[in-house]
Amino acid sequence: MAQNQEATVVFGVLNETSATESRVALTPDIVTRLKRSGISSIIESGAGIAAEYTDEDYEKAGAKVAGRNEVLAEADALGFVDRPSSEIVASLKAGQWVIGMLGSFTDADYIAALEQAGLVGIGIEKLPRKLSSAQSMDEMTSQNSVMGYKAAIAAADAYGSFLPMMTTAAGTIRPAKALVLGAGIAGLQAIGTLRRLGAVVTAYDVRPASKGEVESLGAKFLDLGLDFSAGQGEGGYARALTAEEQAAQQAAVDEKAAGFDIIITTAKVPGRKPPVLLTAAGVKGLHRGAVVVDCAASDLGGNVEGSVIGEQVTEGGVKLIGAPYLASGVATTASNLLARNVADILVHFVRDGKLSQDLSEELDDALVVAGRVATQPDAAESNQAGN
Ligand code: NAD
Repeated sequence: MAQNQEATVVFGVLNETSATESRVALTPDIVTRLKRSGISSIIESGAGIAAEYTDEDYEKAGAKVAGRNEVLAEADALGFVDRPSSEIVASLKAGQWVIGMLGSFTDADYIAALEQAGLVGIGIEKLPRKLSSAQSMDEMTSQNSVMGYKAAIAAADAYGSFLPMMTTAAGTIRPAKALVLGAGIAGLQAIGTLRRLGAVVTAYDVRPASKGEVESLGAKFLDLGLDFSAGQGEGGYARALTAEEQAAQQAAVDEKAAGFDIIITTAKVPGRKPPVLLTAAGVKGLHRGAVVVDCAASDLGGNVEGSVIGEQVTEGGVKLIGAPYLASGVATTASNLLARNVADILVHFVRDGKLSQDLSEELDDALVVAGRVATQPDAAESNQAGN
């Protein structure tokens, strides 16, 4: 295709498959889409296979399939599901771009390492999500939505009974009672999926606006009798609660949690360690066989005290699943959505057939977290002249 021959920017993707990661940052559909924007793709052999995309699928779409070193050498920009390891950063050359969840809110040393290597870092975690032109780039929304769906499925799978009410010849089985803590993108999707599976769902969030959203999905809003609405965070997001507020919230959640069979937690505060909502005492109060899925679990802890990444059964027989990686379990579709998000970010930064940044633009200013190049004085002057 003529457009492909004109391609001046090469986009590269590596194989990130691991025990908990099956997604890939480029899918064949997106190879075709990028070609239309004059961007050619190179992908490491086998990178898509865990998400059911074969090397042949990529080749048919027009991508070059190659070994890791070739991808690293040829790509102008590399896209990641997560972020490049220090080893990969060390093998990149100055001027290359990396696009991924770079952790700029929490890991200044990593960003400094990108700077030192002369790389341009595009941190998707910094996407201004309320900007309407950025919605197709919103990986947090696309992947959290997949995660919320899968959290409900994982909970149903681990639970030793039905979710819907069942009337059988041997008696009637009551529906499962589920509690969703954190009713943002992931939480709302978990609520919808649990409801479709027949559970009776209750949910809670600190944002006052979430009550209506929860109820519109047919779930009950959990009233903790506490009001954290004053000082709600910027842009409609939750703010971090004070220590006193957090203690009051934990005591109230612990008490109310006891009656539930399934608890899914998704509560986060942008750029912060996730708040603990359910303490060890709260987990102890749950019945044997209850299932807790903590989507906020991380190496720094999650929404449930004592949850770690992976599965454990407490002494009291509660199944505690720390599962930040759930979107990976819907790898085919999650990858397609994520690849679209990453590709749209890349296309935004291709101007006149070249990768460039313009920090006077809101999106560029937010996303470029390493290798920032100040807007040329001429451009700034002409902007001012235009004002
Ligand atoms: P998130 O992943 O940062 O947090 C998940 C949820 O946890 C949020 O609803 C938050 O309020 C909640 N939470 C945080 N601390 C809590 C606590 N102590 N107790 C209980 N709940 C707590 O957020 P998200 O899911 O990505 O998005 C949150 C909101 O932003 C949603 O309302 C969403 O609709 C909105 N949003 C809007 C846009 C847009 O306008 N384009 C894009 C993305 C998200």
